[in-house]
Amino acid sequence: MSSRRICVFCGSHLGRDERFVGAAIDAAERIVRAGYGVVYGGGRVGLMGVVANAALAAGGEVIGVIPGALASAEVAHQGLSALHVVQSMHERKAMMTDLSEAFIALPGGFGTMDELCEALTWRQLKIHDKPVGIFNFEGFFDPLLSLFDRMVDEGFVMERSRALLRASSSIDELLSWLDGPRNGNLPSS
Ligand code: AMP
Repeated sequence: MSSRRICVFCGSHLGRDERFVGAAIDAAERIVRAGYGVVYGGGRVGLMGVVANAALAAGGEVIGVIPGALASAEVAHQGLSALHVVQSMHERKAMMTDLSEAFIALPGGFGTMDELCEALTWRQLKIHDKPVGIFNFEGFFDPLLSLFDRMVDEGFVMERSRALLRASSSIDELLSWLDGPRNGNLPSS
C-alpha cells in the first residue's frame, strides 16, 4: 500500500468533449508516476471511472470510498485496490480526507464542486492542513476562479484563504507544488 495518496474529485459524467477523458487519463498517470496512490469516490462511471482505471493500469493503488446507497453493482468499481462502503456522504468525505495528503479537483459537476469547496472550507478552518489544487484543464474552472476572486474583492473571503487554493493547467506543476514548501499556509495563531 502506498502511504502517499492524493484525493481526486471529478465528474461522474464523461463530459461532452472527449479531451476531458484524455486529460483525466493523463492526470491519473502523472499522479501515479509521481509516486502517489489515488483516493476517490469509488464509482466506475464518468471521469471517476476513467481516473481509477488509468491509475490502476499505471500500477497505482486506488482506494474508493462510496456510500452504500451509491454502491449498487451498477456504480461501484469492483476492481479497486480497496473499496470502503460507508453510511453517508459525510462519512465518505471524512474518510477520503483521512486517507489522503492532498486534494486535486478535475472537471466535474455539483458533486465535484461540493467536495472541492468542503476541502477548501475545512482547510480554511484548519480542520485539516492538506493542500487543495485544481487541474484547470482548458480553463474549465476560470469562471469559478473569477467568482473566488470576486469574493475576495467583495470582502467575503480573506486574501490568505484565497491563496490556499492553487489552480494550474499542468498536473506536474500542481504535483510539485503539493510536494514543495507551500505558500499560503495559514499562520498557526
Ligand atoms: P459530479 O461532479 O456531480 O458528477 O459528482 C462527482 C463527485 O461526487 C465525485 O468526485 C464523487 O466523489 C461524487 N459522486 C457523484 N456521483 C457519484 C457516483 N455515482 N458514484 C460515486 N461517487 C459519486
